[in-house]
Amino acid sequence: MGKEILGIHHVTAIAGDPQKNVDFYTDILGLRLVKITVNFDDPETYHLYYGNEFGSPGSILTFFPWPGAPRGRRGTGQLTVTSFSIPERALGYWIERFKTHDISFEGPITRFDEEVLIFFDPDGLKLELIAHPGSDVRKPWKEGPVPPEYAIRGFYSVTLSEQGNERTAPLLTETLGFRLDQEVENRFRYKVGAGGAGALVDVLCLPDVPRGLVAVGTVHHVAWRTPNDEEQKTWCQEISKLGYNVTPVLDRHYFHSIYFREPGGVLFEIATDPPGFTVDEPQEELGTRLRLPPWLESRRAQIEQALPPLRLPVMVK
Ligand code: ZN
Repeated sequence: MGKEILGIHHVTAIAGDPQKNVDFYTDILGLRLVKITVNFDDPETYHLYYGNEFGSPGSILTFFPWPGAPRGRRGTGQLTVTSFSIPERALGYWIERFKTHDISFEGPITRFDEEVLIFFDPDGLKLELIAHPGSDVRKPWKEGPVPPEYAIRGFYSVTLSEQGNERTAPLLTETLGFRLDQEVENRFRYKVGAGGAGALVDVLCLPDVPRGLVAVGTVHHVAWRTPNDEEQKTWCQEISKLGYNVTPVLDRHYFHSIYFREPGGVLFEIATDPPGFTVDEPQEELGTRLRLPPWLESRRAQIEQALPPLRLPVMVK
């Protein structure tokens, strides 16, 4: 055995207009646009990746933009909140920043020992900034509009909304290696690996809330980190033995992935840390042009023609 989930790898959501998506995550939140590629299963749709300076696992929020598609609905069986980690002293900066840019927000509210600002992206995706006393040494993106001392470090946690926790909890704790960390009312917080920012999942039990509907403004899936292909293979066998329908290993070019649906309905992925986003462009050039995996290069002209043009963020030196 000896295998361990290291934390959150990435979260993938559905957006509407790709330009509004780029503008919000880079100009307002100050994340780095780490990769511009396409949905490998639907190459005429963008796949946009945002993250920290290196696009480290645990900082990556990705989007499939479906311009003109209907909005989804948050509900049970979904990852309903994606929470970013900010330094404790950054809370005031972000409140002012949101006011300046006319971004409505709720809070700050206190949850456990954290201060939380709740807000939404232009498509209604629910997000949080969490200022917490724990250390978070991850490097933020320094060339965006947010001064590095206040910038987002990566994910803090994700929240799964479930009608019940009876079957999801054992999957998390007995199979995937999470430990119950704290609970208050209907919120159960689990940690995995070393715990702390980037390795936390909250399960909210909402027995009376209808199931969510995945479309624009909702999360499609969450991926957990595995360090290598060998451990991923072991996960695949073990989860399959428990009776879950697990996909074979899929080559996502920047990582390798398996997918299965947890009992509450949330789509889980287990993704490898390597090879990472510098596999097809150098660190300095991440996210500056459309990258296609080798098996789609021959269709580049047709793909580029089908994609709406995108105005890229200006780097602030
Ligand atoms: Zn994924």
